[in-house]
Amino acid sequence: MTADRAPSIGELLRRGERCFSFEFFPPKDDEGERILWKSISELEPLRPTFVSVTYGAGGATRDRTVAITGRIARETSMLPMAHLTCVGHTTEEIRVILEQLSEAGVRNVLALRGDPVGGPGTPWTSTEGGVEYASELVEFIKSTTDAVVGVAAFPEGHRDAATLEEDALAMKAKYEAGAEFAVTEMVLRASDYFGLVERSREIGVDFPIVPGIMPILNYKSMHRMVELSGREMPEEVLARIEPLRDDPAALRAEGIRIATELCDTLLEGGAPGLHFYTLNRSKATREIYAALQITA
Ligand code: FAD
Repeated sequence: MTADRAPSIGELLRRGERCFSFEFFPPKDDEGERILWKSISELEPLRPTFVSVTYGAGGATRDRTVAITGRIARETSMLPMAHLTCVGHTTEEIRVILEQLSEAGVRNVLALRGDPVGGPGTPWTSTEGGVEYASELVEFIKSTTDAVVGVAAFPEGHRDAATLEEDALAMKAKYEAGAEFAVTEMVLRASDYFGLVERSREIGVDFPIVPGIMPILNYKSMHRMVELSGREMPEEVLARIEPLRDDPAALRAEGIRIATELCDTLLEGGAPGLHFYTLNRSKATREIYAALQITA
């Protein structure tokens, strides 16, 4: 499928149908590649609205975002979205990547500032000839291509935003630059997601905001993920998983239950869909799908 004929995620969301999507990352080696494509093929029968592939902070995996999204467009029935960041790129380089994506049949792009090279929470380094903020990247993409653009949103505010109001204004800048929808960082509490939607609507940002879901499958890695996002695990979640920390199987089962309850609350409260952070595995997402009784 050529990029201009690929469906627009913004349009699919505006139609009001529930949107279910899966996120993958470009693997570093052949074994990772094998696991990724196995998971992709196991998740394809669930008929997601779209699947997305992240963009690495640097190094060899960056080219792979174009390669993997292109292969998804060519070889599967799924609609791919490529993440793209401002990190270390001049606008000329970004223009070339956008051309490559278009040639690969990829029309939908998630425009991000990107994690700083030193990782989340470390200082941002500007690139000469590049852009500083995601809103400028959205503006650049919209002025040079006909790509459909989504952006990131943060239920508890971005870790570097001084206040929730400042965070909401950053989102408004992305919306005004032409973004058609947003996908959130993993939601830890449904009320944080509903708060984000309310803050956005109050300042006139009325595009669909899809909540991100990452089930707790492993005690240590979940703590690390939450720490990296500059947040804390909610007390009510800790009370359920702490007693199970030495029983990995029971902890995983409880993690799936917690995520399923969260998904239910989000959908019942009006979320336009769910975006699953799969970490390139399919099992947990399939289990939550089954528990939610989502039919393909
Ligand atoms: P921005 O909207 O630019 O915001 C960054 C910070 O700057 C915020 O604190 C904001 O409040 C502030 N800000 C924005 N505009 C202004 C302004 N005009 N003046 C002053 N301050 C301003 N990272 C990757 O590297 N690769 C990925 O593939 C990737 N995928 C992601 C997918 C999702 C769904 C999410 C939620 C995040 C993803 N990230 C990814 C992480 C993301 O890039 C980082 O969290 C990054 O720090 C913020 O990105 P942003 O696009 O929201 O940036």
